[in-house]
Amino acid sequence: MKSYVTGFPRIGEQRELKKALESYWAGKCDYDALERVAAELKDRHIKYQLDAWSGLISVNDFSYYDLMLDTSILFGVIPQRFAALSAHEQYFAMARGSKDAVAMEMTKWFNTNYHYIVPEISAYTEFSLNPSKILSEYKAAKNNDFKDSCALKINLIGPITYLALSKSSDKSDPLAHLDALVAKYEELLKLLSELDNEVVIQIDEPIFVTDRAAELAPKIEPVYHRLSKAASNVKIIFMTYFEHATEAVREIVKTDVWAIGLDFVYASEENIKKELQILKDAKTVLFTGVIDGRNIWKSDIDKKLAQLKAIEAYVPKERIYVGTSCSLLHVPFTLKYEDKLSTEIKSWLSFAVEKLSEISILTHLFFEIPMCEHGMKAYEENQKSAKTRASSPLIHDERVQSRAANLNKFERADRYEDRIKVQKKELGYGILPTTTIGSFPQTAELRQVRNAYKKGLIGREAYERDIKAYIDDCVKFQDEIGLDVLVHGEPERNDMVEYFGEQMSGYAFSANGWVQSYGSRCVKPPLLFGDVSRPRPMTVEWIKYAQSRTKKIMKGMLTGPVTMMNWSFVRDDKPRDQIVKQLALAIFDEISDLQDAGIKIVQVDEAAFKEGYPLRSENIPAYEKFAVSAFKLAVSAASAHTQIHTHMCYSEFNDIIKTIEAMDADVISIETARSGNELLRVFKSVGYKQEVGPGVYDIHSPRIPSVQELVSQIRALLEVLPKEQLWINPDCGLKTRKWEEVRPSLKNMVEAVRIIRTEA
Ligand code: GLN
Ligand code: ZN
Repeated sequence: MKSYVTGFPRIGEQRELKKALESYWAGKCDYDALERVAAELKDRHIKYQLDAWSGLISVNDFSYYDLMLDTSILFGVIPQRFAALSAHEQYFAMARGSKDAVAMEMTKWFNTNYHYIVPEISAYTEFSLNPSKILSEYKAAKNNDFKDSCALKINLIGPITYLALSKSSDKSDPLAHLDALVAKYEELLKLLSELDNEVVIQIDEPIFVTDRAAELAPKIEPVYHRLSKAASNVKIIFMTYFEHATEAVREIVKTDVWAIGLDFVYASEENIKKELQILKDAKTVLFTGVIDGRNIWKSDIDKKLAQLKAIEAYVPKERIYVGTSCSLLHVPFTLKYEDKLSTEIKSWLSFAVEKLSEISILTHLFFEIPMCEHGMKAYEENQKSAKTRASSPLIHDERVQSRAANLNKFERADRYEDRIKVQKKELGYGILPTTTIGSFPQTAELRQVRNAYKKGLIGREAYERDIKAYIDDCVKFQDEIGLDVLVHGEPERNDMVEYFGEQMSGYAFSANGWVQSYGSRCVKPPLLFGDVSRPRPMTVEWIKYAQSRTKKIMKGMLTGPVTMMNWSFVRDDKPRDQIVKQLALAIFDEISDLQDAGIKIVQVDEAAFKEGYPLRSENIPAYEKFAVSAFKLAVSAASAHTQIHTHMCYSEFNDIIKTIEAMDADVISIETARSGNELLRVFKSVGYKQEVGPGVYDIHSPRIPSVQELVSQIRALLEVLPKEQLWINPDCGLKTRKWEEVRPSLKNMVEAVRIIRTEA
């Protein structure tokens, strides 16, 4: 059968790998025990695929931490500071740091929430081949009962993507090493070719779905010409995902590479057509990624079948394989443990294991392979659930739809210049007002209280008492050290998206829908399945209470519509601009209620605003348009007297500064502590007019900044922006820090401002 998945999740259906890793790191088990868990998981994951089909089964999609890191080990790209460590220590030290060496950098994998370990390359980097992991995984996989020898597919990250995603430690160009690295890939392919009569190797080159595609495309032909000649019994799949790869398709068809893998879910129809047009006259086999590897909805098999038939007009059946749009790493493992979800919603979902069976059904139907009774039944159920979902009253809320369709106000009535005058006067703050980003330390006791309440072990009254006690402490502390604008500390929130999602209709929550974010760290994104609204206030009681405990101004704290969307699994039956609009209206209602309750400042966090940017610049204008409109719509609830703050993480704003300005918040706080003043200069150079709170210290580290250090940091800020435009705050929420760190740090921050103010 010509079925495949680009890759399978590795964390384990009950996060077995996470648990094993963390216990190994804590010294509670030895390496052998960790290896045993890994072996069992790899075996189980292969069996899941074998159960579903007799197509291609992925090998080397497993990793203890990350596949880019594994690739660095594979080619001996080990930074000097880890050189002396033993192999096992070295691997985890590169990922997590050791007592003598800082960890390698980690960054987002394209536009997903998965993070990879960034390779470090210098002009002197030399490569050496260390293929033991792949060889042993292949051999272990072979122990399974295969129907023929060509059932395995070995996954590798490609040389161009690997180097393009590397960072240079000496300003030399990592891609200057391409020839040398390709020589090692040739050696590797030769070695792998000895494993079987015929060996299928998937080489991932997702860099070709980004804006760098045009610049890098000329490298494809020479590199893949060499690789396709490395061994005569090796079949190479040039794999791409997340977007179209038109430039790469154009190059690959010039080579003898056996197959190309394309994303048929996230590329636009127009680009897909272009790709197919190029493939039409070629002989390249097509790995057709029609099953969504990034979202959790059941595929409508009939629709997918129609899509495959349309593709057949360009590429004949003989040249088609059927599979996922990308690795299933980006979706949760299985629905098996979801016994709390409503049966109706559950019947619409498909996690990694369930997607395997979708691929199987689709392959049977498309290639007209007779299906067993079990398969037929699954197909019928699929068609039924596609219908019930489309017409379910759970999804459709007439009120929400007509409200969104009949809006007549989209932004705040007053201009910023007029609002800020009113606010400065009414809020009465002078120069360099001090504040924080919202959360205070999430202590173990706090988590316990929330858990106990959730499980029904304590009642509402006890819960409220404990949360209020925490708010009291936060407020008292902030009052004592003399901060200007206070926060309640967010003790009632487990997560900035989940907390709001849980209170909105249209959202559901899985019990076990974990997705790997980095290393052993997993996230469980909420499921936005229907029209979204906010039946009742979500934060007002807490904020009102906090305000009642102080004479200072209490800032209300909300998560913005764009972040709510970007950190959820969202419905695929409605365009994103409409989904985000509904979220914006829900936040609008909350801002109105906070305002009516006498709250003078509301912060609308957009931590994931930058994260949602498309991979191809051609799609950026559309994203910016709906993201900015959604934010403006949400905050249009605020009168001129209410000050709107926003907060964004990450410091790479240079290219989007005008967009941020267009969001029209009165004050934005941003992460600058690690990037120095460069970013601020950008604010200045574009004549950014709203107020800015550049983080004055890095909350990601336990270090306590001294008064002196903070004074010089603030002075540096003042060299770039006028004192009337600046707020002083840490660079993100404090929830991951300890009180022992937070108390002195904030105290020093306020003291530093006091010193500067006396000079000014
Ligand atoms: N208000 C949130 C907090 O302080 C913001 C978190 C974030 O930006 N990631 O925790
Ligand atoms: Zn932040």
